[in-house]
Amino acid sequence: MAARKTTRRALTEPAAPPAPDPCPVCKGAGEVANTVRVGRRHRVVGQQSGFCLACFGTGEAPAT
Ligand SMILES: [Zn+2]
Repeated sequence: MAARKTTRRALTEPAAPPAPDPCPVCKGAGEVANTVRVGRRHRVVGQQSGFCLACFGTGEAPAT
C-alpha cells in the first residue's frame, strides 16, 4: 500500500466582509469631541468625547 500523499485541500477561505465605510463625522471612532462650554459667555473649558450622532456610535457610515 503506497503511502498517499496527503494533499491539503485548499479550503475556500471565506471572503472578508467588505469593510463598511467609516463614519465621516467621527472617522469610525464612534465618538466625537464635543467642546464643553460653561457660563453665559460659553467659556470653553475643554472637550469631552461624546457619542457620535451621525452613526449612533457604531463608527460606520450611516446607510444612505
Ligand atoms: Zn460617527
